[in-house]
Amino acid sequence: MALITNTRIGRFALIATALFALGAQVPAPGWAVAHSYVETFSAKQIVDPPGIYGADPDFTAVIESAIDRFDSVGLTLPDLRIYYHSDPAGCPGATAQFNQDGSGTRVDLCTQVAYTLLHELAHAWEYHTMSDATRQAYLDHTGLLSWADPEVDWEDRGIECAANTVAWGLLETPITNPAAFVDELHSFELLTGITSPRTHDS
Ligand SMILES: [Zn+2]
Repeated sequence: MALITNTRIGRFALIATALFALGAQVPAPGWAVAHSYVETFSAKQIVDPPGIYGADPDFTAVIESAIDRFDSVGLTLPDLRIYYHSDPAGCPGATAQFNQDGSGTRVDLCTQVAYTLLHELAHAWEYHTMSDATRQAYLDHTGLLSWADPEVDWEDRGIECAANTVAWGLLETPITNPAAFVDELHSFELLTGITSPRTHDS
């Protein structure tokens, strides 16, 4: 059933953009730009093996740590090609992008913000792992009406709120007062099937 699967977004690829001035929206033209961008760089995906590209050793270590964060709690990521761009032109219309097409899974980062990195990795995990039943359960829980309709505002798409929730639940900062985050923690557990490691990191 394709009602809420990612493939409804477009023929060529899934692109999920992240604008981390919270509440910012991806303007409609951004999708057009992003689609042409994906088609342009798709050829690169075929020749590059999974790995981290363009990041200095320090940021490479941050990226590896974020990937380990998923692995350490049993959230399995696909093989990834992660590109860091010091030039914002590497992520047209956004600060970071997740891209999935037939040649593989790609994340482009034009920021070193850890939350954004986790958000994009969450898209990769969601795409490869999450069931439609879980997507629907999350929509039902949040009251959101669309999983990934590009006509819907960015902050009202389930796919984006879910990536934010997963990223939030995997931040390294311990949560010492879980009672203050009951809804966030419940949403994380609904999406991932696990308790946020932030509640037992301290
Ligand atoms: Zn996103």
